[in-house]
Amino acid sequence: MKEAFLYKKLNKNRVQCNLCAHRCVINPGKAGICMVRENINGILYTKVFGRTIAKHIDPVEKKPLYHFYPGSKVYSIATPGCNFHCLFCQNCDISQLTGSDLLESGQKLTPEQIVRNAEQTGCKSIAYTYTEPTIFFEYSYDTARLAHEAGLKNIYVTNGYMTPEMLDMMSPYLDAVNIDLKAFRDETYRWIIGARLQPILENLKKIKKMGIWLEVTSLIIPGINDDHIEIKDTANFVASELGVDVPWHISRFLPAYKMKEVHATPLKTLKAAKETGLKTGLNYVYVGNAASEIDMDTECPQCGYMLIERLGFGITQNSINGGHCPHCGAKIAGVGL
Ligand code: SF4
Ligand code: SF4
Repeated sequence: MKEAFLYKKLNKNRVQCNLCAHRCVINPGKAGICMVRENINGILYTKVFGRTIAKHIDPVEKKPLYHFYPGSKVYSIATPGCNFHCLFCQNCDISQLTGSDLLESGQKLTPEQIVRNAEQTGCKSIAYTYTEPTIFFEYSYDTARLAHEAGLKNIYVTNGYMTPEMLDMMSPYLDAVNIDLKAFRDETYRWIIGARLQPILENLKKIKKMGIWLEVTSLIIPGINDDHIEIKDTANFVASELGVDVPWHISRFLPAYKMKEVHATPLKTLKAAKETGLKTGLNYVYVGNAASEIDMDTECPQCGYMLIERLGFGITQNSINGGHCPHCGAKIAGVGL
């Protein structure tokens, strides 16, 4: 076990973890909300360092990141556990484990091995994803530093609930982030996730200000966050606080975990949300998780020229020329385009 970063010792051997906005105060012998950080005799330990429960080579489009080295391969890893308990979690088999499944599952993999695997498989980047990278911060931090030394990029796919202290520490090694903005109502966060909205909004703004490439994903769940006004509020926030060039991914909900009785998001809701995003002034709005029924292509926001055509998670055509539209010369937002 490795001693955790970012915690404070309190009286009576209690500690406060300052890794995510829960800021758990943890008694000796107990763990925080994520269940993977435990106080042993007044020292906080991470129980997931070096323990990978999922590793895959994915297209970067699957994260989803559409404006960051399009078409490149990403070595993607996760450890067990999460600081959220979303009732709709699509990865609940690895994020919501308990007992020995949570504390013993996974394969030993050092940061050095991860970087070597990524290099040997021709990946451009390493993604910390599937569960929540914040709760395996020490592991991702050590790996990300080595990855940069090897010339690889680092991607966080996150719920955005980390503390500003953690972001400050991680940011020199982060190249791209996709944040799941799961709702735009604090009560929804409290009710179905067990968290608060405001820290996530602050982190979105902070990441953008830091100059890290940012894309935002909103999972639209029928009856939960599919109200037109809420979707409009989300689009307005992205446009006015983050900028119209930040790509916004509208993702289709599919029944999962404790929300198996809720039906999949109707395609007309997704199309309407995309329209709302475009009307708000966002330049890049995509629909994901909906097979190929709605296009996921990138068009030039200035002249409408087709720039990138996608099929599933693959790219069938990319005509961006040195980061510019080949037709009108407009600059296209992104990194490695
Ligand atoms: S990472 Fe978050 S949930 Fe886990 S112990 Fe720290 S503050 Fe609590
Ligand atoms: S934050 Fe992501 S991994 Fe964690 S419970 Fe929610 S959906 Fe699952």
